[in-house]
Amino acid sequence: MKNKKSNAVEEFGGTFGTLVLTTVLPLTTIYLNLACGKSSCSILTLPLMPTMEEMFNTTSLLIYTGWFFFQLIIHLLLPFGSIQYGLPLKNDKRLSYKCNGFSCFIFSVLAFVVAYIFGLPTSFVYKHYLSFIVSSIFFSFTLSLFLYIKSFSVPYDKLTDSVNVKGSFIYQHFLGRELNPRFGDFDLKFFCELRPGLIGWIILDFCILIEDFQKHNSLNYSLALVVFFHTFYVADALWHEEAILSTMDIVHDGLGLMLVMGNLSWVPFLYSLQARFLLEHPQIQWSFCALVAFFLLNLVGYAIFRLSNSQKNEFRKNPHNPSLSHLKTLRTSSGKKLLVSSWWGLSRHPNYMGDLIMALTWSLVTGFQHIIPYFYPIYFTYLLVHRGMRDDAHCRKKYGSDWDTYCDTVHYKIFPYIY
Ligand code: NDP
Repeated sequence: MKNKKSNAVEEFGGTFGTLVLTTVLPLTTIYLNLACGKSSCSILTLPLMPTMEEMFNTTSLLIYTGWFFFQLIIHLLLPFGSIQYGLPLKNDKRLSYKCNGFSCFIFSVLAFVVAYIFGLPTSFVYKHYLSFIVSSIFFSFTLSLFLYIKSFSVPYDKLTDSVNVKGSFIYQHFLGRELNPRFGDFDLKFFCELRPGLIGWIILDFCILIEDFQKHNSLNYSLALVVFFHTFYVADALWHEEAILSTMDIVHDGLGLMLVMGNLSWVPFLYSLQARFLLEHPQIQWSFCALVAFFLLNLVGYAIFRLSNSQKNEFRKNPHNPSLSHLKTLRTSSGKKLLVSSWWGLSRHPNYMGDLIMALTWSLVTGFQHIIPYFYPIYFTYLLVHRGMRDDAHCRKKYGSDWDTYCDTVHYKIFPYIY
């Protein structure tokens, strides 16, 4: 098994690229949150250097770690949900996953509400935001280093293809060596993908909304709408949790710093930036009609995102589903078919298009004066374009010349007539 040859090539610019990302990603999370303060919100104005006390706080680290383990415990204990199976592995086995994300989400929100009623000091989070970010970064580095070391104790066929590349420690630590790190039936990658970070993002949003309400003694409708959009997005992702089992993150990527920090630090602290911005800029208020327009635009994005994802997932689960029999397909020599009509005839990633429309809508609510609250749609466009390119490379490898035929049939990558 050892030294099995692979066609894998170095991704993300190899050692140099991953070294840059390892440094820049945590600094970006800190910088953008610092820059998005009350007095200014400009990437060009250097924020004041924070003090050591602002950056490091043992209580924040304990709360952050406690939150991670709280999610872990409820994931293990809550009986609701279903058992789903992932795609076949290299050894043709399929791993089972406990999909109780939605009940964990509801339980977490209820626990937060009850704790708040009983006096949870939510202002602590807002006042010590920076130390929570630093805690999440510290936690992510610790966990990814642990996973890197652990990966040397597992059989070769449990490692990702990326370890076949002559990769340095920096490269392999960033991308992750082990594909599915598990402790018994508990799958750490699956858990990290949608639980502590994603649910944590919503709890941060709630803390921000409460802070705003306590400050102004009235509801900020723009902020409330953004928090609603985020909450709905996360609830939907957890309701359809099993859909993640066929994504690149689960099927192809190892659990390294990229996914660990992406999920546990980047997502909660950068995706909540629009809410933080609105808290710091209460003057941004919209008319009822404008709020309705934002709501409708988000709905359009959501419909495209959800309907296209569901159509493909249903088709992959059961290609003979009678409700999909009207769809045109392209048969590949691997035996698998590709959809070429309806949503999947519009572009090769209509689901990305819906996701991007939602991302843009959330930022539109923050107005047009500052670029920082637009960070999410800008970064997300880059992420999805890059992700689309990686997926394209995987599919070309998988489907050979049939993929070229498919690309000729469905011409656009994400946005019809644009890209
Ligand atoms: P896709 O859902 O597009 O999955 C790509 C895979 O789908 C391909 O590898 C191929 O696998 C299959 N496929 C591609 N085209 C077709 C077709 N025409 N017919 C049938 N199957 C096809 O991409 P992702 O996994 O990247 O994304 C899933 C969702 O998650 C998206 O909506 C995306 O926007 C969202 N997302 C959100 C993120 C966030 O941070 N909010 C981050 C990343 C993703 P095969 O043929 O082997 O089945």
